[in-house]
Amino acid sequence: MTVLCLQTALLPEGWSEGVTLRIDADGRIAAVTPGAGEGELLRGIVLPGLCNLHSHAFQRAMAGLAEVAGPGEDSFWSWRELMYRFLARLGPDEVETIAAFAYAEMLEAGFTAVGEFHYVHHDPNGCPYADPGELSWRIVEAARTSGIGLTLLPSFYAHGDVGGAAPSPAQRRFVCDLELFARVHEAAGRAVRTLSGANIGIAPHSIRAVTPPQLRALFEQFPSGPVHIHASEQPREVEACRAVHGTTPIALIEATIGLSARLCVIHATHASAEERQRLAASPATVGLCPITEANLGDGIFPAVAYAASGGSFGVGSDSNVQIDAAAELRQLEYSQRLALGRRNCLAEPMRSTGRVLFESALLGGARALDRQPAGLCPGGWADFLVLDPDHPALVGRRGDQLLDGWIFCAGKSAVKEVWVRGRRLVADGRHLARARLFARYRALLARLLA
Ligand SMILES: [Zn+2]
Repeated sequence: MTVLCLQTALLPEGWSEGVTLRIDADGRIAAVTPGAGEGELLRGIVLPGLCNLHSHAFQRAMAGLAEVAGPGEDSFWSWRELMYRFLARLGPDEVETIAAFAYAEMLEAGFTAVGEFHYVHHDPNGCPYADPGELSWRIVEAARTSGIGLTLLPSFYAHGDVGGAAPSPAQRRFVCDLELFARVHEAAGRAVRTLSGANIGIAPHSIRAVTPPQLRALFEQFPSGPVHIHASEQPREVEACRAVHGTTPIALIEATIGLSARLCVIHATHASAEERQRLAASPATVGLCPITEANLGDGIFPAVAYAASGGSFGVGSDSNVQIDAAAELRQLEYSQRLALGRRNCLAEPMRSTGRVLFESALLGGARALDRQPAGLCPGGWADFLVLDPDHPALVGRRGDQLLDGWIFCAGKSAVKEVWVRGRRLVADGRHLARARLFARYRALLARLLA
């Protein structure tokens, strides 16, 4: 049993001082006692760790490489071509090296768990590896090395566009039929079961890559665990769906598998007002990736209207062009301010915007990754971060001002320590294995970009 005394902590019931946290040998919280003051003192501001509900880890290595204007108009689609070319150079060792370092960076940035939307399954020629779960194992090893909580979401990808179009040669590393996917998923499940704090779901990639009968078959074949799907990220996808199916992507998903608590719709940027209302009224979650959506020029999700209808959302770092939990929440709020021409958009009257953003993402992320209960409460994982009380953006602040200072001013520079399942993985803002993981990553990048 580990016993810690949290100087200042955000508990489900609010801010508290001198909190005694008892953590059992498995890394779960056994008891939380406000004001008890017992245990090893953790000086600083303790927040429950956030779930990063949507990541494609390998894309971290191409961060900043797609910021040169092309000959025509640049868009999500031209970015995707570059991403495919980059991916062609990555084998299992490369995938693991990049993911391990990216996960260490996520921990340093305040994320304690990641939903890895894992769609690269085969070798560069599109042939399954001897173990069809080879790359799933590498993701699991990267999570083990870094210590991050993992929700592995093996992705099913069968087609190149809406209506069952053939995949392009660049997509052959992703492509499975249902039988091959079952073998990939079975191997991925074996890998996940070797890792404490890990769980598994499925990720039918999108209605571009999966037909409705396939979506229904997957939902029935894998009857438990999270179901994540990209939808309505780009207007072109919505138009293609209308042309082929006579309806919009999220309506099609609802008609095929329903909007259950298992479902997390990634992006939903161009959902119609009716789709948004139906999502908000359902137990499903929307996975927003504000920095990536801005980087790719996807558009602005109307989060204010969605949240006002009671909709649940979490955040993800998606392309990993920047990894910073606070910055995702800031970008989400700023996109609403720019669109609506006013301030403090996502807060209710007289409430801190940072507090509302943080608690929404905490609850929505935990629901989307099936990592409940969220927050510092008995039965949950002892996953938390400690903000530096001496950071210039936090000094003199109290209560929710600390969250506003972290989200709107400091960002990841204020993250001093991060603990996952009761183990300290980040100290003085640096992952304990950073030097080793960075040396591997640096050597790989030198080779890849030579
Ligand atoms: Zn994505």
